[in-house]
Amino acid sequence: MGLEFHHETLGQRVLFGSGKAADNVAAEVARLGAKRVMVIASEFEAPIAARVTAQIEVALTHHDVVQHVPLETAERARAAAAEHGIDLLVCVGGGSTTGLAKAIALTSGLPIVAVPTTYAGSEATNVWGLTEAARKTTGVDPRVLPEAVVYDAELTVTLPAGLSVASGLNALAHCIDSLWAPRVDPINSALAVEGIRALGEGLPKVTANPSDLTGRERTLYGAYLAAVAFASAGSGMHHKICHVLGGTFNLPHAQTHATVLPYVLAFNEGAAPEAARRIAQALGAKTAVDGLNALRAALGAPTNLADLGFAEADIPLAVELSLAAIPASNPRAVDAAGLTELLSAAREGIDTRAVAWAERAAS
Ligand code: NAD
Repeated sequence: MGLEFHHETLGQRVLFGSGKAADNVAAEVARLGAKRVMVIASEFEAPIAARVTAQIEVALTHHDVVQHVPLETAERARAAAAEHGIDLLVCVGGGSTTGLAKAIALTSGLPIVAVPTTYAGSEATNVWGLTEAARKTTGVDPRVLPEAVVYDAELTVTLPAGLSVASGLNALAHCIDSLWAPRVDPINSALAVEGIRALGEGLPKVTANPSDLTGRERTLYGAYLAAVAFASAGSGMHHKICHVLGGTFNLPHAQTHATVLPYVLAFNEGAAPEAARRIAQALGAKTAVDGLNALRAALGAPTNLADLGFAEADIPLAVELSLAAIPASNPRAVDAAGLTELLSAAREGIDTRAVAWAERAAS
């Protein structure tokens, strides 16, 4: 069969270098000719933002950041940007902070320079998300893709070990889910596989020594590849489930991804042999599930959704909302019974090898 695909690459400048964030941000602000910069960072991220923006003139600093971008938070930030005549948004922080900058850009068209401090990857996608009345809505819009991303691994050394692991596994989920997402193609698959390799090498170094810059750099590089692959391939089954768990049940984003990933991988592994082979190879393991289990064990990854606040009574609604969103292209057909089993197992943290559906898929 001939090789045939349609691939779109999103245009964005990426400046990567440890200890270089302040210089690179100043250079981007100058290149874009910005005069009225709004710096967005949560209160926890404020000290990092102060370092990173030390060389630029700041018209407004905004700290009102809330996870999953509630609409009222977005509206307050949009009003502040308009009131101060802002011409550039510089966001310094995790996915929640980037998400708030995107919410402003969505209605104003203002350019963004993103300085990520976690491995969430929102900075490399044209996807926005807003939460209203306990429902998270996402959409795609070219206006929300940052003009430039400034990566500096030194900014991630303060990320606590637990959050580093969860966030890194969130990035790994971008890679793995990309391999069976609706717009999977050879280019985004190549990026995803290289992302898995980089994260598989970087994350154990980060947990062994959280201030090890080599591990942090490798993980940040993997997180960028993960996000580019995800932006290109689209959301697969894993992301659709996590999106419901975050938006409707307010579960923490990175930890939820880290917990659900082994269950979706075990569910799909038998029906997606080529993806499974490449994941296993990138993790240096015999099978994809073995590779992920070994990595998760080495990292001390979160193991169950119950600890994150997901109640048994929440399962039926989570199943209903997820089923409506999971793409038909998922390698294995998903029904209410299968998804209930998956979410129950993930809630309780049952070993994926002990779940009946995992055995059925592999047989
Ligand atoms: P987050 O941004 O909520 O950050 C988690 C916590 O870590 C916060 O308290 C933050 O202040 C703190 N933190 C961030 N960087 C730190 C650092 N270097 N040192 C110490 N503390 C630090 O969490 P997240 O996982 O980065 O992002 C999650 C959000 O991003 C979700 O809302 C998710 O939907 C969104 N997201 C969107 C996309 C997209 O493409 N649109 C992609 C990925 C994630």
